[in-house]
Amino acid sequence: MDFYIYNTMSRNKEKFIPVKKGRVGMYTCGPTVYNYAHIGNLRTYIFEDVLKKSLDYFGYNVKHVMNITDVGHLESDADTGEDKMGLGAKRENKTVWEIAKFYEDAFFEDCRKLNIKRPDVVCRATDHINDMINMIKILEKKGYTYISDGNVYYSIDKFNNYNKLANLSMEELEAGSRVQVDKNKKNPLDFVLWFTKSKFKNQIMQWDSPWGRGFPGWHIECSSMSIKYLGDNIDIHCGGVDHIPVHHTNEIAQSEGALGHKWVNYWMHGEFLVLDGGKMSKSNGDFLTVDSIEKHGFSPLDYRYFCLQSRYRKQLLFSFNALKDAEISYKKLKDKIANIILQIKDTDKSEIDEKVMSYYKEKFANQIGDDLNMPNALTVLQEVIKTDKLSNIEKKNLIESFDSVLSLDLIDSKNNYENSKGYKDYNKINKFIQERNEARLNKNWDKADEIRNKLNSMGIELIDSKGNTTWKIK
Ligand code: AMP
Ligand code: ZN
Repeated sequence: MDFYIYNTMSRNKEKFIPVKKGRVGMYTCGPTVYNYAHIGNLRTYIFEDVLKKSLDYFGYNVKHVMNITDVGHLESDADTGEDKMGLGAKRENKTVWEIAKFYEDAFFEDCRKLNIKRPDVVCRATDHINDMINMIKILEKKGYTYISDGNVYYSIDKFNNYNKLANLSMEELEAGSRVQVDKNKKNPLDFVLWFTKSKFKNQIMQWDSPWGRGFPGWHIECSSMSIKYLGDNIDIHCGGVDHIPVHHTNEIAQSEGALGHKWVNYWMHGEFLVLDGGKMSKSNGDFLTVDSIEKHGFSPLDYRYFCLQSRYRKQLLFSFNALKDAEISYKKLKDKIANIILQIKDTDKSEIDEKVMSYYKEKFANQIGDDLNMPNALTVLQEVIKTDKLSNIEKKNLIESFDSVLSLDLIDSKNNYENSKGYKDYNKINKFIQERNEARLNKNWDKADEIRNKLNSMGIELIDSKGNTTWKIK
């Protein structure tokens, strides 16, 4: 079965063909650790997690690499504004190193709560300064750089098709990245590879380099670290859509400039989560975090479910009302699954028909392999729950396999359910069914029907088969 990916570079859905058979090298741009990740950022990390797990589901051996930006990222992606790490340190009266450690840990704690798997390689920019210096040296040797007022710049005019990823004219690119006039730049879209003349006094993070003591620009870390860990031909590179016109465009210029050939085969970008009032932004402080979600009484997995209900390439409008709706349908889903699992008996263990199972597994794979159509994948899950063609044990096995991608703790539903109000209903329902069976044995059809109707009004549908009665939530 084929896996299809929408490639930002071609603006087309393409069949995925890996560089090496059966293997995938995947790089995702990680957080700048100067503040908590907001739920918009986390939507992007959920999309990337689902992508990785979907490729796993298809049998690929995925190597996932993610960077941690702990130096070099200025407020604007285009080298203007203040140093983000410095801002964090000032705000909290801590050192930049303390800030980086604190927010990196906080980020992975959020990921844990959202069932986002830790990448196979997590690489910090500050641990890879030499790799970056080496790449800048190569770019310098190949004539892509110039030095102006002490800083090393990348000259985009030396690179062919600089605008190919964004697919915008140079004027549109300029307008979109809101570049400020910088008299040191030959072209306003040129960007810094190495800052020696820091405009920030007391810049703590500094290293020696052939161009003087200083620190790297933001974009060079992703180029050099991705190549270090994934080689010079990478299958998939991801990020949020905001990375298309500046960060990823600059990454391509650096990597392809240094390598002399095509670097990444598939570019994937997650659309933004937006608030009623507009964009969520870390710098203006009014952003929602996992913590805010929990404070409103939701679980982080309610939010994961909320994200999975929509396609990653569409903007998603967040509101607590919409999250409430997601919470309700996620809970219903879990209750239905708990009921299925609770009805499995030891004698059911042999009831597995591999042919029927593969039919549903393929149906699910078709959806996730269609550029991650998660809303449709959730519909396949509902179909498995509802159908009379599968035994409960088959259903459980299928749900377990789907959950390796969805990561909604669906099988654990049973444990949560046993402590819930629903479980008390479960005992009541089973008692009614027992009474109805006795009534039927005694040919007391009126009583049997009365019980069926009562259960029906509780939203429970009975299924009589082979001398056995099971039930499901309608
Ligand atoms: P940052 O920590 O700012 O570098 O962002 C981390 C990731 O979140 C990047 O892939 C961004 O493209 C992505 N991102 C930023 N804002 C949003 C948003 N509102 N919705 C979805 N993704 C976002
Ligand atoms: Zn990056």
